[in-house]
Amino acid sequence: MRIVLLGAPGAGKGTQAKKLIDKYTIPQISTGDILRKAVADATQLGKEAKGFMDRGELVPDSVVIGMVKERLSQDDCKKGFILDGFPRNTSQAETLDQVLTSMGMPLQVALSVDVDFDVLLKRLTGRRTCKSCGQMYNIYFSKPSKESSCDKCTGELYQRDDDKEETIKKRLDVYRAQTEPLIDYYGKKGILKRVEGIGDIDEIFKKICSILGS
Ligand code: AMP
Repeated sequence: MRIVLLGAPGAGKGTQAKKLIDKYTIPQISTGDILRKAVADATQLGKEAKGFMDRGELVPDSVVIGMVKERLSQDDCKKGFILDGFPRNTSQAETLDQVLTSMGMPLQVALSVDVDFDVLLKRLTGRRTCKSCGQMYNIYFSKPSKESSCDKCTGELYQRDDDKEETIKKRLDVYRAQTEPLIDYYGKKGILKRVEGIGDIDEIFKKICSILGS
C-alpha cells in the first residue's frame, strides 16, 4: 500500500497513520516528526527548519524534498509506505510523482481526513504530548488524569511550540492556501478518497479500512 494522508493540522493524520502501520506493517513517513527530531538534535537540518516551524510556515521545498527522497529510497519502503504531512503543496506533489514513477512505485491512494475548522482549533490548542514516551493527550477530548503528567509513564506533558495559538492560525492559513489544492490535484488523478475525521478514533479507522478495501 502506497498512500498519502492529506488533511489539515489536527485532522488526526498521525493517529490514523500509526494504526495503519500496525495493520499493513509498512513505515510511516512523517515529515513533521523527522523535522522535529532534527530540531531536538540541533542538526544542520534542524537549525534550518526551526524558524519556519516556529512561525507555522512551510520549511522550503529544497530541504523537505531531499529528506523524503532519501527516506523513500530505504529498503523498508519497497513494500509500501504512508506519507503523513508530505506533500504540502503542488510543487512537492509533482516532485513526489516524478520520484515515485522513476522508482516504479507510483502512489495508489491519497486519503483526505476531513475535519471542521472549530474542531481543528480545539484539537490543536488542546494537544499535549509526553516528553518521555510520546503518548498524546488532549485537554478537551482525551484528558490525562493529572494535568501535566503522562498516565502511562508519568513523564512530563508539553505543548508543541507550533501548537501555540498564534502559530496555529498561521498553520491553518498555510494549509488552506497551499495544501488544500492537493485535494483537487489527486482528485484529477483519480486516486483521491475522503473520510470524515470526526468521532471515535477506532470508528474512523474502520471507515478508512473499508475505504482502502481491507
Ligand atoms: P506537522 O507535524 O506535519 O504539522 O508539521 C509541523 C511543521 O513542520 C509544519 O508546520 C512545517 O513547518 C513543517 N513541515 C512538515 N512537513 C512539511 C512539508 N512537507 N513541507 C514543508 N514543511 C513541512
